Amino acid sequence: MNLARWLERRAAVSPDAPALYSGTELVARYAAFAAQARAVAGWLEVQGILPGDRVGIFMRNDPAYLVVLYGAWMAGAVVVPINAKLHAREVAHILSDSGAKLTFASPELADALADIPSVSAPGVEFDAILQADPFDGIVHRTPEDLAWLFYTSGTTGRPKGVMITHGMLMAMALSYEVDVDAVSAADTALYAAPMSHGAGLYNIMHVRAGARHVCPQSGGFDPAEVLSLAARHGRVHMFAAPTMVKRLTDHTVATGAGREGLRTVVYGGGPMYVADICAAVDHFGPVFVQIYGQGECPMAITALSRAEVADRNHADWRVRLGSVGRAQAVVEVQVADDEGQPLDAGQVGEIMVRGAPVMPGYWNNSDATAQALQDGWLRTGDMGSLDAAGYLTLHDRSKDLIITGGSNVYPREVEEVLLQHASVSEVSVVGRPHADWGEEVVAFIVGDATDAALDALCLAQIARFKRPKAYLRVNSLPKNNYGKVLKTELRKLLAE
Ligand code: AMP
Repeated sequence: MNLARWLERRAAVSPDAPALYSGTELVARYAAFAAQARAVAGWLEVQGILPGDRVGIFMRNDPAYLVVLYGAWMAGAVVVPINAKLHAREVAHILSDSGAKLTFASPELADALADIPSVSAPGVEFDAILQADPFDGIVHRTPEDLAWLFYTSGTTGRPKGVMITHGMLMAMALSYEVDVDAVSAADTALYAAPMSHGAGLYNIMHVRAGARHVCPQSGGFDPAEVLSLAARHGRVHMFAAPTMVKRLTDHTVATGAGREGLRTVVYGGGPMYVADICAAVDHFGPVFVQIYGQGECPMAITALSRAEVADRNHADWRVRLGSVGRAQAVVEVQVADDEGQPLDAGQVGEIMVRGAPVMPGYWNNSDATAQALQDGWLRTGDMGSLDAAGYLTLHDRSKDLIITGGSNVYPREVEEVLLQHASVSEVSVVGRPHADWGEEVVAFIVGDATDAALDALCLAQIARFKRPKAYLRVNSLPKNNYGKVLKTELRKLLAE
């Protein structure tokens, strides 16, 4: 089944329900949303786009994003969403690797595309497309047919195109309803993180349920704007990277801003420190749900429910809060050794996952596919351990593990301790080559806590060998476009 059916059905059942907003301004009800998508599909057909052809989307968050997405799906095309912050060379690589026949680009981004065939959206050109003869019907898609090529952010190497099928997205969206949050027509999906990534994938269950979709006018994440839109629209759902959650909390603490209207904040995509999520729950209440996923199994590996995040009376609350939760309904998760053999509870190994939302492979890259998919399991490249109840705790990616004097140090564990200091706002721990020990532990710190105070914190809570041998003060940590700290950059800094 084609995912676009969910839009068609919703438009049939509640045509007058408000659908797309730019900030507080209503730009389309469900009937108009579906009609516009149908016009885009009709126009694509006239351009010679056939089922299975790739269509690029190089747009900032905007209601037109969803119109293009569903239009392309109605015509059976595969979308290739590209983060609006990428460099022209990265964009060119993605478009040529995916073989996109044409690309929808925000007007201010179109220059970066040079001679790549593109249409600007929204804008006059796009308005003309919306007048095209509507596409007749919806192209049939099987669960195995591609819907989305997702170029992984990757902290090293060139991005690879994860093949995401209609079946994977359907499994992800239905699993969301049981593991993360039940969505209703009264809800509002707010897009404060790039729609080319997880935040955009989350439109699907909200379209099915007939919720409102709101793109902030700033086009990005501004805590004041998010809170005012939440107060205005109510029952807001949003996806937020851990750094965004922290900024929301810091903003309310600093300004006393209101907290009304936030219903669900799904966080994930990077480690959330226990101190940060506790502060967030203190300020916003039980609205947070954690998910763990990756492009190769989008948003759908594990979840830590709202109650598990917020219920401090539970005996295991704090330990579980440091985990990423339990396997979502539609997947199996195991932790395995280098040979792929499952490990016992408590042992650290590579996290593997199999089930309906797992990718069939990377686009045109059989070597990378063979490395990632083995014996029916996806090797995530993430390290972790499962406890007896099935809670998964992420350790660091194997390449981030520090081995000092033969002992393993998981940077996350040291970072959690350092963050407890009130004068540390961000921290990242990496290994520095050392003649005797192989590596030594070094902490990059944003904040002005003294070395002595940080040492004292570590000595009180973790083994001596895990304590950083140097604290380096920086104004900010290098991050990629999704807010993930680039440890490779920090290691380069150390090498220099
Ligand atoms: P991406 O494919 O760009 O979405 O990145 C996925 C990676 O982000 C995963 O393989 C993890 O390393 C990391 N990640 C995702 N969710 C979480 C989470 N809840 N906690 C910690 N790291 C996460």
